[in-house]
Amino acid sequence: MRFYSTQDHGLRVTLEQAVLQSLPADGGLYLPERIPRLGEAFWSSFHHQSFSELGFHVARSLLGDAVSPQVLETVVNGSLDFDAPLVQLTENEFILELFHGPTLAFKDFGARFMARLMSHLRTDSEVTVLVATSGDTGAAVAAGYHRVQGMTVYILYPSGRVSPLQEKQLTTWGDNVIALEVDGTFDDCQSLVKAAFLDVDLQKKRTLTSANSINLARLIPQSFYYFRAIQQLRSDDPTTIVVPSGNLGNVTAGLLAHRMGLPVSHFVAAQNQNDSLVQYLRTGHVPDRTAVRTHSNAMDVAQPSNLARVVDLFRDEKDGPEPLLTADSVDDEDTLDAMRRVYERHRVFLDPHTAVGWVAAERLNPVGGPKVVLATAHPAKFPEAVRIATGRTPPMPERLAAFQRRTKKARPMSAEYAELRAILSG
Ligand SMILES: *Cc1c(COP(=O)(O)O)cnc(C)c1O
Repeated sequence: MRFYSTQDHGLRVTLEQAVLQSLPADGGLYLPERIPRLGEAFWSSFHHQSFSELGFHVARSLLGDAVSPQVLETVVNGSLDFDAPLVQLTENEFILELFHGPTLAFKDFGARFMARLMSHLRTDSEVTVLVATSGDTGAAVAAGYHRVQGMTVYILYPSGRVSPLQEKQLTTWGDNVIALEVDGTFDDCQSLVKAAFLDVDLQKKRTLTSANSINLARLIPQSFYYFRAIQQLRSDDPTTIVVPSGNLGNVTAGLLAHRMGLPVSHFVAAQNQNDSLVQYLRTGHVPDRTAVRTHSNAMDVAQPSNLARVVDLFRDEKDGPEPLLTADSVDDEDTLDAMRRVYERHRVFLDPHTAVGWVAAERLNPVGGPKVVLATAHPAKFPEAVRIATGRTPPMPERLAAFQRRTKKARPMSAEYAELRAILSG
């Protein structure tokens, strides 16, 4: 299996290149040259497979001979050491809990798989990963790469601009994960990372790679839990999956699963007021705006990078993504209202991202069949919003509380590139 760029359908690169380079030089995004449908053997044992077995077969089919079965099994088993339980709230409404990983959000799936795959694909003795973060992605990456062999990770975050709990999740790992506390903004952190990637002399000394959200290796494991959802659902009725969406990576993984033969009849990308896909499907382009702040802040994205992949996956369909994929936009008021209602009716706390999905699912009524909303984060990660909506504080899981007791270790630095360069050259 090889990989092409959404900007250049003639390009073919190996899995090593796609994963270690992250982005093609032409500014596109990588996708597999073929998306094979899973065969009879897979489906006949579908209901008896563990999560790791499902993951292995899906990844094996998608990656083909690009990686050996032994390596793939190690990577998948190392990534999927927590499950994605399906929880039923009403006769036809379910949530798929994707927040049982180390940082309690679905990004743990992508980060863990990507770290282990990179570690196996590297040819140099040591690979240096650079990430600029405004919070949650960096936490998942730090957790995902911690103690993974041959990988050194530098996390750049803006000093004083992440929440105290997020900061603990970024700065308390040690070993091969180094937190750099930048005296600047998130944009400064991104500029520093960009400058390092353009620094030819530095590249001679270190193999640099990025762990950003558009790496193909992050998408692949996200398709696994769509299979897990359908397996647990055990329904023959047409099923809708609602995906709280920002950069559209998660929904792209769902579309890949569908291409591989997963029986889903409809995907809804649920967005907050940053409704880029709603606009795109209506008008054919994304308005030139900047993101507005909402309670579902991990979805405050105005120009979603994975739109290029979504568009490319439908390039042979005369009507484009619809009707398989539709989009909806939910404002903060409706989001908080859903969090309150679901708590009052079911005694279940939803985080604001999941609540956006919940509202989008409700608006589908009276469409029949099961609706599965992906629960992308644990409510305890967003105690403020939960308090505003329900008047209560969600219980904090021990895994999250444990971070608060750990000691911060970060190296302060200015936003000058010379300083980052000195650190990376040392
Ligand atoms: C990143 C994130 C999203 C958005 O996912 P995309 O793949 O960017 O569309 C939704 N919810 C939470 C909690 C997230 O962290």
